[in-house]
Amino acid sequence: MQFQTAFTLQLARMRVRFGGPAAVAVAEELAALGSQRALLVSTASQQANARNFATAVGPRIAEVYAGARMHTPMEVTAKAFEFVKSVGADCLVALGGGSAIGLAKALALHTDLPQIAIPTTYAGSEATAILGQTEAGKKTTITNPKVQPEVIIYDPTLVATLPIALTVASGLNAMAHAAEALYARDRNPLTATLAMQGLEALLQSLPQVIENPENLIARGRSQYGAFLCGVVLGQVGMSLHHKLCHTLGGSFALPHAETHAILLPHSIAYNGGSEGLDPLDKLLNGPAGCELHRFAKRLRAPLALRDFGLAESDLDRAVGLALENPYWNPRPLDRASLRAMLQRAWHGDPPQ
Ligand code: NAD
Repeated sequence: MQFQTAFTLQLARMRVRFGGPAAVAVAEELAALGSQRALLVSTASQQANARNFATAVGPRIAEVYAGARMHTPMEVTAKAFEFVKSVGADCLVALGGGSAIGLAKALALHTDLPQIAIPTTYAGSEATAILGQTEAGKKTTITNPKVQPEVIIYDPTLVATLPIALTVASGLNAMAHAAEALYARDRNPLTATLAMQGLEALLQSLPQVIENPENLIARGRSQYGAFLCGVVLGQVGMSLHHKLCHTLGGSFALPHAETHAILLPHSIAYNGGSEGLDPLDKLLNGPAGCELHRFAKRLRAPLALRDFGLAESDLDRAVGLALENPYWNPRPLDRASLRAMLQRAWHGDPPQ
């Protein structure tokens, strides 16, 4: 790879702890922050786990709010904001995937409260100052240092309960951040190195995790990979792949991780030949798009958008919406090629 002689990078301020038990780490971090009335945020399906976790942390967690929803709808945030005020919370602790972390970020944007993020998926939101929100069927993202969690705690036992299907989809979701970072317009040597490290860690650990979901060494490595992928997501701009996923998630309510998993090989194939992808082609011993499809199949990842409620008749509108306000992409965006690409992804065909 040629050395890039000029670049700018901005590193976020975050304290990151790997290894458990997370409840002990959270109690220590809350004490260090001087917090007495933290609010623990989770999704509804993780409410019981969140309550048990709050008990394990101890009295510094004052309340649990289990109302987080995927794609951070604005009305959900408004309701949670009232709850934060009513309990006088002095810190936000998010336990969960990108949905719980997203709600805590949205609340931090309005309150400036410190955040501790404890990820239980591989989505990587904890490592970024980005907040994606949905209003009136459209998803928009903002970047603001206020939403960057101050502390992140990775405990492999917390992802060991992630069902296999979600493990695979979420792992591929993380890989998508790093894959797109490789050809980002504002990439730099550090992001290229971190992206490759993240991809390698996940390529190595995901098959091991599938074989034995309770392999905590492999789970820990997968969390490390997801963290690196999240870091690069927060550092550089994303392109076609993330635009399509935001469109399908925000406007068609498709699930986040599965949509990323299905589209990843197709988007990377669309951008195949981009200079930044060379190291990934080499690592995978072939064109990255095709090889990622092979990897996804081997992991039994979801492959077809039609399996997640997207109608074939929605494809034209999805392409139109994705082209309305496109992100920069290394290859020019061409309506007919994009439509053909989405058709293959809808059907579950390999990328071209
Ligand atoms: P999620 O947080 O919605 O989790 C998916 C489901 O899995 C939920 O029902 C959740 O309760 C459950 N779950 C989570 N962890 C579990 C575990 N360990 N065991 C069992 N069940 C578990 O999904 P996600 O894919 O992690 O996050 C998606 C959201 O994150 C989207 O809204 C997306 O926009 C956002 N996101 C934001 C960024 C960013 O930088 N802003 C980055 C990535 C994702």
